[in-house]
Amino acid sequence: MPDAAPLASSLPPDAGDVRRETVALVIPLFNEEEMLPILIREVEAFRSHHPDIIEIVLVDDGSSDATPRLVRELTDDLPGYRVARFARNFGHQLAVTAGLSLTTTDAAVILDADLQDPLSVVSEMIAKWRQGYDVVYGVRAEREGETAFKRGTAAGFYRAFRWMTDLDIPLDTGDFRLVSRRVIDAYEKLGEQQPFVRGLISWLGFNQTGVEYRRAARMAGETKYPLRKMLKLALTSMLSFSDKPLRMAAYLGLGTAALSFVGLLYALIAWLIGST
Ligand code: UDP
Ligand code: MG
Repeated sequence: MPDAAPLASSLPPDAGDVRRETVALVIPLFNEEEMLPILIREVEAFRSHHPDIIEIVLVDDGSSDATPRLVRELTDDLPGYRVARFARNFGHQLAVTAGLSLTTTDAAVILDADLQDPLSVVSEMIAKWRQGYDVVYGVRAEREGETAFKRGTAAGFYRAFRWMTDLDIPLDTGDFRLVSRRVIDAYEKLGEQQPFVRGLISWLGFNQTGVEYRRAARMAGETKYPLRKMLKLALTSMLSFSDKPLRMAAYLGLGTAALSFVGLLYALIAWLIGST
């Protein structure tokens, strides 16, 4: 844990303060049987020129397809893999949170199993971290293979979230990001039960920066984020970060009470006038 308060976000980068050697990849998996062979192949190819990536943490979020078996078969003989399996589907955000807590490295990179977050960008993130940053998030400059609806709702969500929470989360970022050990430790101390990973990490402070990238299309399989899950994430994130909904409910209640009072007075006066 750092000595400085976690909210000190504007400190200049200082690469000399902590160890910046080893890196883990944290990858949540939910029914990713079609992606897994491609994923492991790509990760291994990437690691062959990134010896600093010594851990790959796979969190199976209660898959009901062949994911658990494939994970075992594909990674058993490979060094550095850690696999955790949830007893049921707890959701992507909790899978990422569990994955982070299983890492032992100096930094970790959170990425999706479908390789929409390109591994080449991970190199850039690691380079920025070595310059002294604690959080390096991916900024989506372009999205391929996503419907206009998904792009539109995502854009709307980030703007609504900012308005609701007054928290300055960078626009068009997902959970694809590198976090340093001190960020992981601080994040863990929060102990959130319904975490909104990107919001919490943004809120923690430290030295944060972004790298732009083109978000590729999912390589295989289908999205595991149907509208229902997206809406749930949007709602939990806003409710856990903002008291505006509560305030709005209170104002609405007060407003209604005030209006009813005026109505009551009006009725009373009308009755008095009418009765004289
Ligand atoms: N995921 C998960 N639990 C879920 C849904 C998704 O762990 O309940 C994982 C999924 O396997 C993938 C990542 O979260 O690694 C992002 O999911 P997906 O690519 O389907 O979302 P999208 O890119 O369509 O928003
Ligand atoms: Mg995806």
